[in-house]
Amino acid sequence: MPGTLYLIATPIGNLEDITLRALRVLGEVDLVACEDTRHTRKLLTHFQINRPTVSYHEHNERERAEELVEKLLAGANIALVSDAGTPLISDPGYRIVRESIDRGIAVVPLPGASALVTALAASGLATSDFVFAGFLPSRSAARRARLSELARFQSTLVFYESPHRIKETIRDALELLGDRESVIARELTKLHEQFMRDRLSGLLSALDGRAIKGEIVLIVGPPPDDGRMQKAPSEPISLLTEVESLMESDGIDQMAALKRVARARGISKSDAYRMLLAEREGNEEEMR
Ligand code: SAM
Repeated sequence: MPGTLYLIATPIGNLEDITLRALRVLGEVDLVACEDTRHTRKLLTHFQINRPTVSYHEHNERERAEELVEKLLAGANIALVSDAGTPLISDPGYRIVRESIDRGIAVVPLPGASALVTALAASGLATSDFVFAGFLPSRSAARRARLSELARFQSTLVFYESPHRIKETIRDALELLGDRESVIARELTKLHEQFMRDRLSGLLSALDGRAIKGEIVLIVGPPPDDGRMQKAPSEPISLLTEVESLMESDGIDQMAALKRVARARGISKSDAYRMLLAEREGNEEEMR
């Protein structure tokens, strides 16, 4: 009989956030595969768990996944943990999970902490529809291209970000997503846990000339016209109506409103402008 692969979430800061089930299973498995054996050893020692560990990280994932799957097929029960939070969420683990599923090995997840859900729940931003975008690319052009793609979602966007890059990311997000409501969730579950809630422009000003430290989740709310678009009646809202209502509600000029609507609809500004003129002409025709 093959063994079981357990995916075990570990705390993202506060050690009390480990579950009773995680402690039990970690104490029962034959082997604990971890991103960093020294890091996980400290966690296991804290809870007086003494099981063998083996490294499984982004640089040895391919070979290690094969080795571990062989052990699973031979009957070993293996726990996979990452340094913090839920394995596979911006962390290694995909290969062994995929391979185990393909080879008929049971994969059992043990839920627990993840910075993404922890930050989102307390953000105060819409949670019914969100996109987890993980880490944005570090290169500016690729990062900006990704943000432009994400601009078309009528969803809350969740990013992991490093403290060194947070200002650049917020600057790019402000330009490409518009000045949306947003939250920096920092050092979650730790002593210096902090939530900074403001529009992107406000966050940028707050960080101006200031170094920010620690682990960060950046959450950007949906575009401001989200409510109107979601509450759309069965007939689609015309582009003209959308532009005019944005101008009125947000006090912006036609070009700025058009830019936002184009971005939200995933079309170019020039196409949006053509549609706007056509709708205006159509309305004038109807009135004649
Ligand atoms: N697997 C983890 C999870 O489930 O959240 C995420 C691992 S990813 C390599 C690490 C990133 O998660 C950090 O750079 C930060 O963006 C976010 N993160 C992890 N712990 C955090 C915390 N305590 N507070 C805020 N963000 C955190």
